[in-house]
Amino acid sequence: MNNTPGLVVVGAGLFGLTVAQQVAERYNIDVAVVERRSHIGGNAYSETEPRTGIEVHRYGAHLFHTDNERVWRYVNQFTGFTDYEHHVHTVHQGVVYPMPINLGTINQFFGAAYSPQQARSIIGEQAAEMHGRTPTNLDEQGVALIGRPLYEAFIRGYTAKQWQTDPRDLPASIIRRLPVRYNYDSRYFDDAYQGLPVDGYSAWLASMVEHPRISVHVDTDFFDSTQPLNRDSLVGRVPVVYTGPFDQYFDHSAGRLSWRTLDFEQEVLDVGDFQGTSVMNYADIEVPYTRIHEFRHFHPERTWYSKKSTVIMKEYSRWAGLEDEPYYPVGSPKDRQALQRYRDLAAAQPQVFFGGRLGTYQYLDMHMAIASALSLVDNSLDELFSG
Ligand code: FAD
Ligand code: UDP
Repeated sequence: MNNTPGLVVVGAGLFGLTVAQQVAERYNIDVAVVERRSHIGGNAYSETEPRTGIEVHRYGAHLFHTDNERVWRYVNQFTGFTDYEHHVHTVHQGVVYPMPINLGTINQFFGAAYSPQQARSIIGEQAAEMHGRTPTNLDEQGVALIGRPLYEAFIRGYTAKQWQTDPRDLPASIIRRLPVRYNYDSRYFDDAYQGLPVDGYSAWLASMVEHPRISVHVDTDFFDSTQPLNRDSLVGRVPVVYTGPFDQYFDHSAGRLSWRTLDFEQEVLDVGDFQGTSVMNYADIEVPYTRIHEFRHFHPERTWYSKKSTVIMKEYSRWAGLEDEPYYPVGSPKDRQALQRYRDLAAAQPQVFFGGRLGTYQYLDMHMAIASALSLVDNSLDELFSG
């Protein structure tokens, strides 16, 4: 590669890696990927815990799932997937229930044997306070969906812990992501395709950038003007795909966008199996963490994992301070105003393409980040590089 690449991609998360891979392959152009962290993969990165040999997702458990055929074909070029299907349980008042709420949860909670029709009618009665009203916040939406008793047991405390906000001040849309099923299907996701990368996330992500036209520069911050691939020296000269925080690109000139962050407390325990499943949620407000992950259960097929010890990770949620990793966009009215201002500023930067979770201030699952990167290449970069 000569000194000036044809494209600079800022951020080696799934969005940036997909753009880099596609541009190098489709247009035979040199692409430099600049990554602030010491590894590629963004939040999907994983590593092996040395004592147990167990793969740990460093930035929180990542489950791949999609209904998008094109994305599924695309990712299968780089890795095979196991047939892992995600199931979650939740503890309420010392009892374990299946989550998301399904007929199993409902019957266990009410100590009943309701048919789907009976359950619908009981829950309808328990949601009567919302009849004829359109939910305006998460609290009302929760009651409208599952009635007050189930909402208070499984949703209110968990949501308040996760968002550190009264559910009456949260948008109704958050809870609509979670299905409610009147059958015994307890899968967390109902997408057509789901699984985990057979050889782990790191092998998958590394194989995306194994291309002679791609150079990867880790430990390199795009805003550090002392290193060669930086904003001041590149923007205007070379097209840039930027997937770092939207507000940081504009020096926070319209204010800081707010995020939630997570604290992960990892422990290696001298027990072969701690909780019998990969993710256990804790619904009650008195328990300070939202969930515990036990990584061995994501890969039951890996016979080499230690049978005498296991790795667990407790997850705590809080508002992100300036030094924290931004994980989930909060999206308050103030954030939405600032976001609009940043969108206006971005529109005036013709050679900078903003993308990904941080670069657009949007929660994106992995398959959405990949789909959106493929669209950026089809719709904007193709015009720049083809012909
Ligand atoms: P990121 O992965 O965040 O990558 C952005 C990269 O840019 C980072 O590596 C960052 O270091 C780098 N960067 C930022 N600023 C700079 C700079 N100035 N210079 C250089 N580099 C910079 N998705 C699922 O499909 N299933 C799941 O189960 C799932 N679980 C999740 C759990 C958690 C806790 C979180 C936070 C996300 C989860 N996701 C999940 C979403 C998934 O992580 C995202 O879809 C994916 O991270 C999006 O990729 P991205 O490239 O947009 O962003
Ligand atoms: N939720 C809940 N109880 C649970 C699981 C989820 O109340 O046991 C709510 C909570 O408000 C959460 C939302 O459902 O923010 C979406 O859940 P999801 O598992 O998608 O959250 P994420 O993966 O974003 O942490």
